Amino acid sequence: MAFESLADRLQETFKKIRGKGKVSEADVKQMTREIRLALLEADVNFKVVKDFINRVKERAIGQEVLKSLTPGQQVIKVVQDELTELMGGEQSKLNLASKPPTVIMLVGLQGAGKTTSNGKLANYVRKQFNKNPLLVAADVYRPAAIKQLQTLGKQLNMPVFSLGEDADPVDIVAQSVEKAKEEHHDVVLIDTAGRLHVDEEMMEELQRIEAAVKPDETFLVVDAMTGQDAVNVAESFSERLNLTGVILTKLDGDTRGGAALSVKAVTGQPIKFAATGEKLDALEPFHPDRMASRILGMGDVLTLIEKAQQDMDEQKAKDMEKKMRTMSFTFDDFLEQIGQVRKMGPLDELLSMMPGANKLKGMKNIQIDDKQIGHVEAIIRSMTSEEKEEPDIINASRKRRIANGSGTSIQDVNRLLKQFKDMKKMMKQMMGGTKGKKKKNPFN
Ligand code: GDP
Repeated sequence: MAFESLADRLQETFKKIRGKGKVSEADVKQMTREIRLALLEADVNFKVVKDFINRVKERAIGQEVLKSLTPGQQVIKVVQDELTELMGGEQSKLNLASKPPTVIMLVGLQGAGKTTSNGKLANYVRKQFNKNPLLVAADVYRPAAIKQLQTLGKQLNMPVFSLGEDADPVDIVAQSVEKAKEEHHDVVLIDTAGRLHVDEEMMEELQRIEAAVKPDETFLVVDAMTGQDAVNVAESFSERLNLTGVILTKLDGDTRGGAALSVKAVTGQPIKFAATGEKLDALEPFHPDRMASRILGMGDVLTLIEKAQQDMDEQKAKDMEKKMRTMSFTFDDFLEQIGQVRKMGPLDELLSMMPGANKLKGMKNIQIDDKQIGHVEAIIRSMTSEEKEEPDIINASRKRRIANGSGTSIQDVNRLLKQFKDMKKMMKQMMGGTKGKKKKNPFN
C-alpha cells in the first residue's frame, strides 16, 4: 500500500499528542522531530522536509493552537493543512484550451509511464469532457514505443498519428496539430521520447517540440516509486521546459511517499493526476487534501464515494434498493452486487480509503483475496435458478454437487449459505420488516 510506513509512523506520533488537554512547546518539538524522521525515511527531499517542519513548528507553537481548547487536535490539523499545502493545496484542474485543439505533451524518463499515461489521459478526457482525442507518437527512438501507442489506440478505439521512426519529432507534432484541426480532434496528446537518464539531446528535442506547438499543458510523468531520484529528474526537466503539472504514476505500489511529497516544491508545479494501475481507467485527478488525509490514516471517503457513483449504474442501484425493501433479494442480485463493487477496483485498494483501515488490528496481514470472491461467484453460478431464488431448497446432495461444480468444498458452500441467510435477516431488521410493524425504509 502506498505510504504505508509513513502513515504508520505519523499515526504513532499523533497518538501521543491527540488527546492532550495541554500541549507544551517541548511536546511540539518532540512531535516535529518524529515527523522529520518519518519524512526523511519516506525519502522526502531534505530541503522540503526542513521547510515543512519549520512551518509546522511555527504554526503549532503559535498562540491560537496552544491556547485552544483542544490543542492536541489543533496540532494535528496544522500538520494536515501543511501536508495538503506541500502537495499543492487546492486541486489543480486540467487546462483545456478555449480554442481547440488543446495540446498536451507528456515528458519524462523512460519507464516512468508516459505512454501508458497518454492512453489513460485520452480515455479520461473522452469520458469526462466528451472530447475526441488524437494520440501522437513522437518517440522515434525506443523501438517499441510507436507500436505500444498504437496498441493503446486500438484498445481505446482512438486514432494514433505517426510518421514512422525516421521522421523528425518536431515535424511529427507540427503535422499532428494540423491534422487534428482538419479532422476535428479537440485534444492532441503527444507521447515524447524518454531516456534512461536526463541528457542534453533529449532536452533540446523537447524544447524544440515545445517551441513548435506551444502546448497548453506539459506534464512531467514521475514514477512515484523512485523517491528522491524523481526529485533530481524533476528539477532538470523544470529548468528546461515550461512544465504545467505532474502526473504521478504507480501509486498502486508500496511507494514510500518521497516523490509525491517533494515534487510540487521542487518543480513549482502541482500534481494534476495520479495513476494507480496499468489499466486504462487507472488515472484520477489528484486531490492534495484527500492524499494528506490518507497519509494521516484518516481515509479518503470522498474518493470512495466518487468511485461508487462513477462505476455503479444508477438504475441498477435503485432496482437493488427496491429488492432489498421488498425482501426479494436473491443470490443473483448478490452476484450482481459483487460485480458492481469489483468494477470499482481491487478490494484492498478500496479498503485503504476507509478511515482507520490501517489501524485495524491485523489488517495489514490480511490479503483481501480476489480469489475468495471468485469462489463465492463460482458457488452461486453452480446453483440452479430456483436455488438462487430460494436457497433453502438446497439439500446435502445438491451442496456436494455445487461444491464439485464450483471447485470449492461443502464447508465453503455452507458458509456462503449461512452468510446469505444472515444478511437477509439483517436486511429485514434494517427495513423494519417484522410483522405487525409499519415498514420503514432507511434509504429514504
Ligand atoms: P514510458 O517509457 O514512460 O512510456 O513508460 P510506459 O508507459 O511504457 O510504462 C512503463 C511500465 O510501467 C509499463 O509496464 C506500464 O504498464 C507500467 N505502468 C505505468 N503506469 C503504471 C501505474 O500507474 N501502475 C503500475 N502498476 N504500473 C504502471
